[in-house]
Amino acid sequence: MKYITKYKSPNYNLRNNSNIQLIIIHYTALKNTLDAISYLCNKEKKVSSHYLISQNGTVYNLVKDKFRAWHAGQAFWRDIVDINSASIGIELDYNPRGKNNKFSLKMINSLKKLILKLQKNYKIKKNNILAHSDIAPFRKIDPGKHFPWKSLSSSNLVMSFKKLKNNEIKIMEKWFKKNNLKSKKKKTILILSLIGYDTREVYRNDKLYNKLIRAYRIRYLNSDDINKNKSIYNTLIKHLFNFMLTKN
Ligand SMILES: [Zn+2]
Repeated sequence: MKYITKYKSPNYNLRNNSNIQLIIIHYTALKNTLDAISYLCNKEKKVSSHYLISQNGTVYNLVKDKFRAWHAGQAFWRDIVDINSASIGIELDYNPRGKNNKFSLKMINSLKKLILKLQKNYKIKKNNILAHSDIAPFRKIDPGKHFPWKSLSSSNLVMSFKKLKNNEIKIMEKWFKKNNLKSKKKKTILILSLIGYDTREVYRNDKLYNKLIRAYRIRYLNSDDINKNKSIYNTLIKHLFNFMLTKN
């Protein structure tokens, strides 16, 4: 796989002893690739990513994998709080309000190739290919509700959920009952936290709870409308079961 290495970002430091375990996908929300390069390589902006993928599928390598690029900000995944030290950040030249408001096929094909390569190099699990909104659900929405997660799961890069059998749902409900988890909200929070989401403050704070639910919806139901009738609960149960039954 070919990268353009002509542009280098100064915005990085040393990883904090962590292995590379996660891939975080972002969008730039800027006008075009050139703007993105100058932003991500500007010392004053104090942000960067390892890779940037343009609308025509060109991949720019701005920070070497071994360094800690500054893309995640305050974030959390499965008790990891220094996400930058444990991840590779990929920016997509996409702006929901710009001319570059489509995830082009060429862009997504390059992204898939890059993910595959990184997964192999660093043995990154399928469950650890994440949206910025997964690790920072209270302040970030990228890569947004139009990002083609389905295409990534059909290419077997991220986990796809098998349908559950009736008895599997019963097992889960029994377990909830035994552990005295009665309300749907409590169950929802528990499942989200087992998957990896930051649920530390959401039980007491409805605003944060709704943001977390929205982040989950964006990713798994391609919708950010938290008032929609379709509940995320069934998807969550399926997600948890598949998550527990797969090693990767
Ligand atoms: Zn982002």
